[in-house]
Amino acid sequence: MWDAEVDVAIAGAGGCGLIAALAAADHRLEVAVFEKTDHVLGNTVASAGMIPAAGTSFQKEHGIYETAEEMAEDIFRKNKYESDPELTIALCKVSSQLVEWMSDRLKINLSLVKEFKYPGQRNYRMHAPPSRSGMELMRGLKRNITARSNIHLLLKSQVTKLITGKNGEVIGVEVKTTNGYQKIKANKVILATNGFGGNIDMVKRFIPEISDSLYFGYEANTGDGIKMAMAIGADVSNMGAYQGHSAVNQATGVLVTWGTVMMGGFMINENGIRFGDETKGYSEFAIEVMKQPNQLGYLIFDEEIYGKLISIEDFKYLDGVNAFKTSLTIEGLAEQLGVAETSLSDTFCAFQKNTNGQSDRYGRTDFPQKLEGPFYGIKVVPALFHTQGGVKINSNAQVMTEKNIIIKNLYAGGGAAVGISGNHAYGYMSGNGLLAALGLGKIAGEHAAKAIKKERIEA
Ligand SMILES: Cc1cc2nc3c(=O)[nH]c(=O)nc-3n(C[C@H](O)[C@H](O)[C@H](O)COP(=O)(O)OP(=O)(O)OC[C@H]3O[C@@H](n4cnc5c(N)ncnc54)[C@H](O)[C@@H]3O)c2cc1C
Repeated sequence: MWDAEVDVAIAGAGGCGLIAALAAADHRLEVAVFEKTDHVLGNTVASAGMIPAAGTSFQKEHGIYETAEEMAEDIFRKNKYESDPELTIALCKVSSQLVEWMSDRLKINLSLVKEFKYPGQRNYRMHAPPSRSGMELMRGLKRNITARSNIHLLLKSQVTKLITGKNGEVIGVEVKTTNGYQKIKANKVILATNGFGGNIDMVKRFIPEISDSLYFGYEANTGDGIKMAMAIGADVSNMGAYQGHSAVNQATGVLVTWGTVMMGGFMINENGIRFGDETKGYSEFAIEVMKQPNQLGYLIFDEEIYGKLISIEDFKYLDGVNAFKTSLTIEGLAEQLGVAETSLSDTFCAFQKNTNGQSDRYGRTDFPQKLEGPFYGIKVVPALFHTQGGVKINSNAQVMTEKNIIIKNLYAGGGAAVGISGNHAYGYMSGNGLLAALGLGKIAGEHAAKAIKKERIEA
C-alpha cells in the first residue's frame, strides 16, 4: 500500500515545518517535509523575522530580566484573556529555549530588537536577524535543513489527505506530486500548512470583517491542514482570530513598519483627519482604516523617526523607490500627499498639543516626542496578513477532537493550529505569529521524536 516510509512526515515548509523538521532530526529520525509550492518561502519569508522570547541571554546582556509568566500576562492582556492559558504559557516557556537553540545550534544570527517596543510588550523581547527580515531567517533554516542528510525536503508535493488506521490514529499521508499521488507511511505527522488567509471562502465564512481587504500573505495558505484535520475529527478553535495590518504601501507591496507610530507618528485619512488611537495595535486598527473613505490612510512622522527606522530593510527599500513624501513643513507635506492642507494642519496642531501619558480624544496616551520638520508621509492600505485560528491542540501541539481526545500521531503548529491571539483582531500581539510557528514547531518536533523513541523501546 505504501510508496515510502519515514518516521516523521511534515506538511508545509514554512517556519513551523522547518523548525519541526530540525527538532525531530536532532533525535536522528528520518524526516520528510512536503511543500505544496516549488519554493521554501511561506508567510515566514514575508515576516519581519521577529521572534518574541522572555528570559533570553540576549535580554540579560541588556539588563532585561523577565519571566515566561510576565510575557504570557502581556499576551493575555492583549487578547482579553481569550487564549488557552496552558498553551500560551507553554509557548512563552519554550520561547527562550527556542531562541537560544536557533542561535547556538542552528547558528542563526539573532539579536535583541531595541529600536522600539511593540504595543503591549513591557520589555524589549523581539529577537531577529540583523536585516529584521523573515527572508534571512528562512535562509538560515534552509541552510540547516540542507546540511542534514536525515531530512528530505520535497517541493511540488501537496499533502492532500491524512491516512488513518483502525482506531482513528494517523498512520501516514497522501501526497500529490508531479508523478501522481503517493502514500507515505509515517509514525507521526505534523501539520505546518499555515492558516486560511489565501482561501477567500473560508475568510468570508470565519472573518467577514476583513474579507474585503488586501490579502498580504502567501497564496498557497488555503487552510489545507485545517480541512484535512477536520476531515478526521479534529476540532477547530478561535477561527475569528487573525493578524491584520494597517499599513501596507500598495504601490510597492511593501509593509511600512508600525515603528513609525510607536515612535510618535500618527495616521490620517484622505481628508487629513485622524480617526482613532493608532497605538492600540496595527492589527485591530486595520478595521478602523477599512471604515475610512476609499479604505486607505496616510502615516505621518518626522525626520528623527525616519532616521531611526532607515536601517530596517523594507523601510530602506521604500525610501529607495521614493515611496515616502517629504517636506520641511506640514502644509508642504499635505500638498505632496494630495490631502487637504488646512485639515492636515489642524490635525497636526491638535496632535502636537497632546501630552505623553494623557489621553487624547481617541484614548491614545502614548506621545513619546513632538514631531519636528522635515516631515514624512506615505499612503497605506489595510491588509489581512494571516489567520490565527485553527486546529485545536494541547500544549504538546497534539491535535484534539471536540471531546478533547488526542488524535494519536497527529500534531499541528503555526497558522494551522489555534494560536494565542484569542478570537479577534485585537488579540494579536506582535510576534504571536512566529512564536506559534517556531515555538509549536519545536514542541511538535521534539514531542513526536520522543514519543517515537518511547514507543520503540516499549515495542
Ligand atoms: C507581511 C507579514 C509580516 C509578518 N511579520 C511577522 C513578525 O514580524 N513576527 C511574527 O511573529 N509574525 C509575523 N507574521 C506572521 C508570520 O509570518 C506567520 O505567523 C508565520 O510565518 C507562520 O508560519 P507557518 O510555518 O505556520 O506558515 P508559512 O510560513 O506560511 O508556511 C506554510 C507553508 O505550508 C505550505 N502548504 C500549504 N498547504 C500545504 C499542503 N497541503 N501541503 C504541503 N504544503 C502546504 C505553504 O505553501 C507554505 O510554504 C507576518 C506575516 C506577514 C504576512
